Amino acid sequence: MTWDVAVVGAGIAGLTAARVCAEQGLSTVAYDMLAPGGRLISLGAVSAWPGGAVQGPEFAGALLDEAMGAGVEIAYGEVTGLTPGRPVSLETMDGPVAARAVVVATGLAPDDAALQDAQDWVGRGLSECASCDGPLYAGKKVVVLGGDEWSASEALELAAVAAHVTVVAPRTSWSAAAERAVAASPTVEVRRGATATALEGASALAAVALDDGSTVEAAGVFLAEANRPRRALADAAAGDPYVLLAGDVTGAAGTPTLLAAAADGRRAGLAVIDLLATGH
Ligand SMILES: Cc1cc2nc3c(=O)[nH]c(=O)nc-3n(C[C@H](O)[C@H](O)[C@H](O)COP(=O)(O)OP(=O)(O)OC[C@H]3O[C@@H](n4cnc5c(N)ncnc54)[C@H](O)[C@@H]3O)c2cc1C
Repeated sequence: MTWDVAVVGAGIAGLTAARVCAEQGLSTVAYDMLAPGGRLISLGAVSAWPGGAVQGPEFAGALLDEAMGAGVEIAYGEVTGLTPGRPVSLETMDGPVAARAVVVATGLAPDDAALQDAQDWVGRGLSECASCDGPLYAGKKVVVLGGDEWSASEALELAAVAAHVTVVAPRTSWSAAAERAVAASPTVEVRRGATATALEGASALAAVALDDGSTVEAAGVFLAEANRPRRALADAAAGDPYVLLAGDVTGAAGTPTLLAAAADGRRAGLAVIDLLATGH
């Protein structure tokens, strides 16, 4: 079959775009290579969302329920290729999938470009999720890599359990409120102007090496700043007007937020509806 709409990436942007399309009666499938909800799944208490405190996984569950309630089909697995055309073709684990329009909402990858062999340390001290893995480091020293708003909040969350938190950041771009909170925390130290280059240890992580030649003792290291748009599929689309981007993958300037991603997902969904109705 040919879907009206295929969404790649079921984070808040992708789920919102998919729901908006399905509510208009378009047949819509949303793929995710991990779990629907995207970054939300690994957040504890969400900030910067109107309406008060909400926990990331619960919020993700509510978005998923709304999308499925509107008729969105959720598909699990990575989309590994995209060929522009009429229809657009996606490469999935189950073979090629055709759609009249595609929304790419693949989000951001963590900033580990300077870190050698980072993925070798998954399960041995490397994490992308303070709320999930923080308790493993109760009473231990940890390092947070990143200088954006969310790196500060991850560091503060970890400071509640860890003995000491070193934030390693080439530069910090967090807000004045985050700066005050970090400065007020006696167990958070910020190493500005430094970049992590390697993780060291035998079976488990023992230290993080920095580009100034120093090392920081750490049992855990958290990749907090995500700033590399996952653009492989967007680039493969080669300007096809029936392939739209939504959410963090657009690389919009400023601090990425759930609110901005949801709004952009809605914009993309409405644009797809218009495109399929009018052809332009
Ligand atoms: C540590 C941290 C804390 C944050 N805290 C907050 C906060 O408190 N408040 C706030 O407003 N914002 C916060 N943010 C920002 C917010 O989480 C993001 O802006 C938002 O989640 C982006 O949504 P998205 O849908 O664009 O991308 P994502 O949520 O990243 O979703 C992208 C999805 O695409 C999937 N995917 C990627 N490639 C493929 C592929 N090829 N095939 C199939 N699936 C694929 C991924 O598995 C993922 O599920 C935080 C960000 C970080 C990094």
